[in-house]
Amino acid sequence: MPADPGSLLITAQDVRHALVCARRVWLDAHGDPALRDEAAPETARAFALGVQHEASVLAAVGAAVEYLPVESWAHGVALTRRLMARGVPGIAGACLEHRAPLDLTDRLFTVRGRPDRLVRIAYAGTQVYAPVEIKRRRDPEAPDWAQLDLYAWLLSQVQGITPPGELWLGATDLGAPARREPHEYDEDRLMDALLRAVAALGAPEAPPVRLEAHCKTCPWQTTCRAAAEREESLDLLYNVTRAARDGLAAAGLARLADIAACAPEDLLAVRGIGPATAPRLRANAQALVERRPVWYGALPGDLRRGGWMFDLETYQARGKTVPWCMGWCDTAGATQIALVAPVQLPEPLTLPDGQRLTLVPDSDTAWEVLAEAVAAQAGPICHWTGYDAAILRGSAPAAALAGLEPRMFDLHAAFKGAVSLPLPSTSIKVVSAYLGFVWPENPDWFAAYLDYQFWLESGDEVALARACAYQRADVQSMAWVWRWLMANDPAR
Ligand code: SF4
Repeated sequence: MPADPGSLLITAQDVRHALVCARRVWLDAHGDPALRDEAAPETARAFALGVQHEASVLAAVGAAVEYLPVESWAHGVALTRRLMARGVPGIAGACLEHRAPLDLTDRLFTVRGRPDRLVRIAYAGTQVYAPVEIKRRRDPEAPDWAQLDLYAWLLSQVQGITPPGELWLGATDLGAPARREPHEYDEDRLMDALLRAVAALGAPEAPPVRLEAHCKTCPWQTTCRAAAEREESLDLLYNVTRAARDGLAAAGLARLADIAACAPEDLLAVRGIGPATAPRLRANAQALVERRPVWYGALPGDLRRGGWMFDLETYQARGKTVPWCMGWCDTAGATQIALVAPVQLPEPLTLPDGQRLTLVPDSDTAWEVLAEAVAAQAGPICHWTGYDAAILRGSAPAAALAGLEPRMFDLHAAFKGAVSLPLPSTSIKVVSAYLGFVWPENPDWFAAYLDYQFWLESGDEVALARACAYQRADVQSMAWVWRWLMANDPAR
């Protein structure tokens, strides 16, 4: 529901975003909704995981909560107040709102928030409602505290007392919050965040683009990237810190073309750019300007020996991150998969699409099956980034680890050290798709995980085939990239 027509609307999300990106606040309020990337996989995934996490944490702690069947925002506000007046023990998804002047003008702002949970507690000699905010991650971030400040302030308008609050972070194996951090209301912190939001909302035009890691889950990513491309912004360079980008701009190298035209040695004068970074940075700028791959380094000789492409999918079990699925293929793409399933001993399964799997009782056995399979052919076991090797070190049994670890080879590092593509990132999906690999529909680890869980519950092999198609694409895309590297390496 729209805010009162005479007032400006500020939401808890605006307060969070104001501390991270003023442009996001402005675009959420004034941007063309048709330009939002609502279906961006990272955004949808982050949202789905967040909702799932909140529900499972509340269930795990046996929270006594009233879920609001909200028909409209005004209805939610009225219902929240009625439930608070009745003194129910907890409310999930309460709707809080207050109208107030926030700056030195006589403008009125409608401020809204929807805490994950309100809980009735004894405080300052009476009963009050305190806000609880629930996050999947284990570490707090600065906007979490401002968000809780906002809820505490909104609650103080209803109940006359500013309550304490709690931030629940992560989850234990049993689903309860891994950390419960107390929150204490800080009016200065809240006013700082609110005034930043007010300034961003009132800006005559969108604040400048600043592409950062958090942009991955922002619905304005495509719009912002297009703006950065028009401006030939240094924000398009990957793996370059904000300090280094600002240093380049201060040195008069404010556009990609400026960097592409420099000799790598000229970049060394900029703080934060060393002899290893400079050639990569220049190649990256040149690739983006000329829209083509730019080679600038040598591939390790070991890579030519072929070997295997390897990838895994993980979950949390007994407090550890362990694989539930792993796939490997040869350089031609012939794929094998091991999958954790309710079996006593390894057993084969052929899926409706013809993919053959080995079902294994646990992740230890999956590692053993992999070790045995790759022993049949020499050569490196390529993986993309250090994640897979870290999971190997953290979860494989000793014998499998001894056989596999010396052969692990980070294809991503080798790729990044040799060639730059005109792309926003070096993720395997982005790189391989640019080089012509065709991914299955909805290539997403979370969808694959849900399909796997559905198969465990229902035995539906079509769902499992979808999960395995994702795993297969992960390793075949690496084989695709490997073949492209071998065919295009200028030193071959
Ligand atoms: S994509 Fe990044 S720069 Fe653009 S609005 Fe979102 S967070 Fe801000």
